[in-house]
Amino acid sequence: MKNNANNNGKRMLTSAQAMIRDTGKKLDLPEEVINWLIQPKIIHELQIPVVMDNGKERFFKAFRIQHNNILGPYKGGIRFHSQVCREEVQALATLMTVKNAVVGVPFGGGKGGIVVNPRELSRSELERLSRAYARAIAPFVGENKDVPAPDLNTNPQIMAWMVDEYEKTIGEKQPAAFTGKPVEKGGSLGRTAATGRGGVIVLKALISKLKSTSNTKLTVAVQGFGNVGYHFARLASKEKNLQIIAVSDSKGAVYVEGGLSPEATLKCKQEKGTVAGCYCKGSVCDLRFGRMIDREAILELPVDILVPAAMENVINETNMEKIKAKVIVEMANGPISSIAYHYLTKKGIIIVPDVLANAGGVTVSYLEWVQGKQGYWWPEKEVNQKLIAIMEKAFDNIWQRSKKRKIPLKQAAFEVAILRLIKARV
Ligand code: NAD
Repeated sequence: MKNNANNNGKRMLTSAQAMIRDTGKKLDLPEEVINWLIQPKIIHELQIPVVMDNGKERFFKAFRIQHNNILGPYKGGIRFHSQVCREEVQALATLMTVKNAVVGVPFGGGKGGIVVNPRELSRSELERLSRAYARAIAPFVGENKDVPAPDLNTNPQIMAWMVDEYEKTIGEKQPAAFTGKPVEKGGSLGRTAATGRGGVIVLKALISKLKSTSNTKLTVAVQGFGNVGYHFARLASKEKNLQIIAVSDSKGAVYVEGGLSPEATLKCKQEKGTVAGCYCKGSVCDLRFGRMIDREAILELPVDILVPAAMENVINETNMEKIKAKVIVEMANGPISSIAYHYLTKKGIIIVPDVLANAGGVTVSYLEWVQGKQGYWWPEKEVNQKLIAIMEKAFDNIWQRSKKRKIPLKQAAFEVAILRLIKARV
């Protein structure tokens, strides 16, 4: 298990670093500049002591990796997972540097993690662990130093515990030190749906550039029906030229000819515990509307647009030849392996890279940070308008570069990010 985690983390780190190295070489950057872009500035490796409910002390291994802060305070989530390892956290911190530079928010890249299966902890143990981690990282985080946020298995409640503990430790109020907080505790309206919303903004911008002349709706399949997948499907289904025909979760997948209703599917999933068997149109779910498909087969459907929004590495050497979509929008982090990426790009499939497609979340985290710093919170409509402006500008920039240099969007995104980072060096 541990080795698996290390191998996965190593693969992710190698591929993030290889992308930076290749881009740096294509831009004729000197070797020392490429190394500066690759190396993290500081790796904090921690042991967090927590008194468990049985009165015994247990130590948890944890990390906070601060990759690059040339553009602003380090920024990135904290994940709680049994497979967390140094390489994985470093890879994710590196990608945060790129993502923040892609959308042009004034942040560097960081990431944190604790090696723990949170499902094995009681609520009070989880709170003590979250607070202990916040105390341990307090000397090197803060609104102008490093701004953590939620990630895998962490949520607004955990951010509320962490910011409270952080404020007690430093002896002052500082709501902008953490983002992804509950709205009542200084969070931003619009944050929950922001990642899915950002993906739909980018997809719409892409479609308008592709100037499709077809009168029929473009079909969309979404893998993963969690926070990102659900909001992406919900907002995309409201577009007149898009139709969500399939969705999946960890237990199954459904196909609904003519388009499904994400809202009714969510309601059905909440009752059944899975989307499997939920064939919903409008507000009605009926077995006659659709059919069950194999969970993994969703990736191989003959759709116009495929949206992996679940986990990393799901499109790889084993299934890349079976992918039929014309466009893939990477809503999960790293859903396409490096080999599959090169294969699909060569085949002419347009891949909207994760560092752009799923940057809506960190963009609204940035808006939460601004609101927290100024002590004035905006209505949701205003937050969404600002998100649209930032995402459209980022897409346009990358699209122009991709056309001008005849390169795929992912390479264009890395080039835009790297050039911003280089220019910020004084
Ligand atoms: P989530 O836990 O809310 O949802 C994940 C979903 O994926 C669940 O529905 C789960 O059942 C499903 N799933 C797991 N394995 C699957 C499989 N094999 N096939 C189909 N579905 C499967 O997580 P989330 O917040 O929606 O994040 C999803 C991805 O997006 C992750 O890669 C995450 O790192 C990335 N991401 C999330 C955000 C954010 O703001 N939440 C921001 C940027 C990137």
